[in-house]
Amino acid sequence: MYKIPLFDLNYDEQEEKAVIETLRSRWISMGPKVIEFEDKFKTALGSLYAVALSSCTASLHLALKALGVKEGDEIICPSLTFVATVNAIRYQGAKPVFCDIKSYEDLTIDPLQIERAITKKTKGIVVMHYAGFACDMTEIMSIAKNRNLFVVEDACHGILSEYKRNKLGTIGDVGCFSFFANKNLSTGEGGMAITNSVELYEKMKVYRSHGMTSLSYDRAKGHTTEYDVIELGYNYRMDDIRASLGLVQLGKLYNDILKRQNVRKMYLERLADVDGIIIPFTNRTEFSANYIFVIVLKNSTSYKRDKVRSYLAEKGIQTSVHYPAVHKFSIYRNSSFNLPFTEYISDNVITLPMYSRLTSENIDYICENIKEAI
Ligand SMILES: *Cc1c(COP(=O)(O)O)cnc(C)c1O
Repeated sequence: MYKIPLFDLNYDEQEEKAVIETLRSRWISMGPKVIEFEDKFKTALGSLYAVALSSCTASLHLALKALGVKEGDEIICPSLTFVATVNAIRYQGAKPVFCDIKSYEDLTIDPLQIERAITKKTKGIVVMHYAGFACDMTEIMSIAKNRNLFVVEDACHGILSEYKRNKLGTIGDVGCFSFFANKNLSTGEGGMAITNSVELYEKMKVYRSHGMTSLSYDRAKGHTTEYDVIELGYNYRMDDIRASLGLVQLGKLYNDILKRQNVRKMYLERLADVDGIIIPFTNRTEFSANYIFVIVLKNSTSYKRDKVRSYLAEKGIQTSVHYPAVHKFSIYRNSSFNLPFTEYISDNVITLPMYSRLTSENIDYICENIKEAI
């Protein structure tokens, strides 16, 4: 066990009570809690529609399916992301076209690279708001508009993050969120797709549950007795047990993020004078979920980075790497992409502990050990 883990759940008796209440209600699959969670989620985000799902991976898949992605299409995406962002493109038989990030300071997809990657086969762009900091959405939305492309936002890192007064996930056609155990809002497993398009919403709802026209909850309530199957759908549903966790977590989210902001501030103060590291996004001022906090070693190699990580591990500090470049994984390696910034970050980034309960003593200890390790 690490003295300071990478992440810690913000759970207490409230989550326990919520689950017990749901269990005692005797409706544990998709039902009233899911509906309430979707309602509160879309209100918090400022979108018209929300579809609760079993994961963000399911959400990305359904977004792309609802947007009509099919075999032979090309979809532009980052390589510096979790592999699910890219796998979802492959589920629809489409080809991921990887783009590099902007720089060592800004780890989001570069609009100039997006523009260059567009071909006649390009149907859309999937962006990922790294660490909760927005991609250049003004530029990306304008490219998408001019070239008639859709935009899907993988907003897993950016729940409640803002970009020019809009919440991340509400700017493109569909916004995708994860409630996996280590996310800002966790339900163990879970996800959400949000959109302002009624057509996309209706499609995703049907695909979520076997392509059926009505749900068992509606039938139990006597709303309807029959159903038809109108699409080849999936079972991507969320259950009421998780939705009840999600409701409690959503209520805690804003305060949790305020504490994370303070953790980031403490890191920035203590690491400002450390030679040999870059702290990405230091010039950003907009409200951010601060899902992760990363540093990048200068003039380094993956060997040196791993030595720094081992040193920190010996001191009881858990770290991680966000992310190994997706285009370097075995199943993507055949595609030849030259992404120098992504590759450097992948080799030299270190993700430090980030959660609301970190104390200033914890941060002091982490930062002192980083200085020694370097
Ligand atoms: C966690 C995460 C996912 C996957 O979410 P699941 O809910 O586990 O499917 C996708 N993209 C990013 C950027 C993530 O951080």
